[in-house]
Amino acid sequence: MKNVENIKFKLPEDLKKCIEFHGHLCPGLVYGYLVAKEAINLLNLKRSKDEEVVVISENDSCAVDALQVLLGTSTGKGNLIFKDYGKNAYTVLNRSRKKAFRFSRNKYYLYDGESREEFSRLDEAISSNTASQKEKWRHKMLKAKDLLSKPFSDIFSTKEVDIVMPPYAPLARSEACAKCGEMTMSTKMVCLKNGKRICIPCST
Ligand SMILES: [Zn+2]
Ligand SMILES: [Zn+2]
Repeated sequence: MKNVENIKFKLPEDLKKCIEFHGHLCPGLVYGYLVAKEAINLLNLKRSKDEEVVVISENDSCAVDALQVLLGTSTGKGNLIFKDYGKNAYTVLNRSRKKAFRFSRNKYYLYDGESREEFSRLDEAISSNTASQKEKWRHKMLKAKDLLSKPFSDIFSTKEVDIVMPPYAPLARSEACAKCGEMTMSTKMVCLKNGKRICIPCST
């Protein structure tokens, strides 16, 4: 049992890893954690060493960090794709099985844990902008704990989706910019009228 903001948590080991990476426990991280676990089961996934698993996240919230930790999807590897739609929705695909699922949140969050009164009091304080920092965290922890206690299907709807496999992250050789001399991916360079190729910052 771990005590966070005076709330007792029984944290699974893999969630602890996510917290270590992300820096704190929060509802967003729990959303990502739950999606990752569900995707691992449905798609029979192992943590992605290269680009076997691809995640398309429709937000850039805390959730993404849990997906990175558990699924091995990262912007560096090119298998984490952002769509800035502000939606609590994620598509996870398994390249070798050519199978993908989209997980989306279709309803308002409703707290129905044991601290119901406290939660609605904190909720009100937050919406009227009078909550202290401590109260905001307590509110988050109550929500995180509640989310962890619910069945997945109460939180996300799951749909198998047809998906056009995204191309593998492009590999391109680098060349020196004709102006600043710094090595730059050739596909990102700007070609001048005189045939010289320069980097984007030098072109503006
Ligand atoms: Zn967070
Ligand atoms: Zn340059």
